[in-house]
Amino acid sequence: MIQSTHPSKVNLRTPEVMERVQEQVEHHYHSSLVERLRAAGSVLESGNTTIRLAKQFGFCYGVERAIDLAYAARKVFPDARLFLIGEIIHNPEVNAQIAALGIRNLLDPSGRPHVEDLGPDDVVIVPAFGTTVPLVEEIKRHGCRIVDTTCGDVMSVWKRVRQNAAEEVTSIIHGKASHEETRATASRALGKGNGHYLVVLNLREASRVGEFIAGRISSGDFLSEFAGRFSEGFDPAKHLLRIGVANQTTMLREETEAVQALLREAIITRDGNDSNFRLFDTICGATQERQDALRELLAEPLDLLLVVGGYNSSNTTHLAEMGEQKGISTWFVRNQECLESGGVIRHFDLHRKEEVSTSLAWLPPAGQQARIGITAGASCPNNLIEQVLLRVLELRGEPLPFA
Ligand code: SF4
Repeated sequence: MIQSTHPSKVNLRTPEVMERVQEQVEHHYHSSLVERLRAAGSVLESGNTTIRLAKQFGFCYGVERAIDLAYAARKVFPDARLFLIGEIIHNPEVNAQIAALGIRNLLDPSGRPHVEDLGPDDVVIVPAFGTTVPLVEEIKRHGCRIVDTTCGDVMSVWKRVRQNAAEEVTSIIHGKASHEETRATASRALGKGNGHYLVVLNLREASRVGEFIAGRISSGDFLSEFAGRFSEGFDPAKHLLRIGVANQTTMLREETEAVQALLREAIITRDGNDSNFRLFDTICGATQERQDALRELLAEPLDLLLVVGGYNSSNTTHLAEMGEQKGISTWFVRNQECLESGGVIRHFDLHRKEEVSTSLAWLPPAGQQARIGITAGASCPNNLIEQVLLRVLELRGEPLPFA
């Protein structure tokens, strides 16, 4: 263990630092057009085009805080080497701005952390979705200063899964096994080394867990089906006796509720009651608000929906899924450059899980009525939403608003 000579706690958020941070953050991400539209009821009429913004979209409190802290760290430690564990949030434009501040990625392209040459003068930023316990311990061993931007809502999930471990309850984590937040949560589900976890992605996988509980799948088959998504030493015959469901904070609420109901039912069927089942609602407030606002938007008559955000953003992906499930023409785009023309759009295909270019009259031609919904995930800055909105009007040949 390398001893640091630096104070263990530094207050980054002094009024003087935050004033400078706010100025820079506003400059990078603010949109006065989006603010004006929100104040005007989130509806824009321009010629034959009606654009409706969801009532809630874009940066959440956790993301704002993480960005503020990263910018503040740069100001408070102007000469130190600053490293970030992966991405501060899942938005490429924001991450490019962070890199432009001289904050380097601690992970290589394969996701492996490079901690070997870290020392006490270095500063490491933990992103909004947190990181794993072993990595934090490793960084501490090098004596680095840590700026932890982990969202409080993520930490509440950690509290729940630690409690599960203490009570010998296995945490069933509804989430994406490769997502940083789920990996961080899984590492906390081990508790003091006695806990266990299993990650399920969706309802289909949860139903396989239910089938095991009902005795319809062998342990061997179960373990190979879920390979890489459970804790070391996990024995389904033993560790699915007492379970607690937790979830990645940004999952689709309906799916999480269905997973919880299915597993509870499986336990009741086996045991006759649910005393071996724990349930905690850990969908975060911001995710919930954005999903609710989109549901409200989808109740309006719309010709198409644009969902703006990073393709690896979990909460944004779920917004796009909601549009598709509603049967509306939904386009998940990274930024305005994806709107190449009214006949060509680059977008993320949720099923192929890659960006594709589609040649199709996705946008009603100029002169025809068009009703367009726009929303964005919790990691998408307002200036990107503004650029998408302006691009739509440009392609439609409509005048710019508030000009
Ligand atoms: S999406 Fe939720 S959990 Fe994630 S940073 Fe925002 S508020 Fe926190």
